[in-house]
Amino acid sequence: MPTCRMCTQNYPNSQFISGNGPRYQVCVRCATENDMLAEGEQSNLYSDELAKSRSALFARRYRPWAFLGAGWILYFSFGSGIELWSNLLLTALVIGSLATPVLHFLSKTKFRAELARITP
Ligand SMILES: [Zn+2]
Repeated sequence: MPTCRMCTQNYPNSQFISGNGPRYQVCVRCATENDMLAEGEQSNLYSDELAKSRSALFARRYRPWAFLGAGWILYFSFGSGIELWSNLLLTALVIGSLATPVLHFLSKTKFRAELARITP
């Protein structure tokens, strides 16, 4: 991994702009900050908007798992002692535990496509 001349950070080769002279061994980030990118040359950095929609996408994908984990923790901590509600909670948790991996697997393709769409 080469070192950037300007910020002295190590990055993989794909994060460097090509060229000689002032452009030699300068990372994409420094090039963007110093206006060194040529016309039409696109930076592969994530804009704020893109980063936000990416984290929203990941949150949407892993939210069921978080709910499931929280539900089981709830059930084992104090949810198992309540007459009717414990059974309802347990039923919902079992159904959720069976359905979530299936849904997770089924939505994999859609998730990949959406992720590719918002990757620079
Ligand atoms: Zn740099």
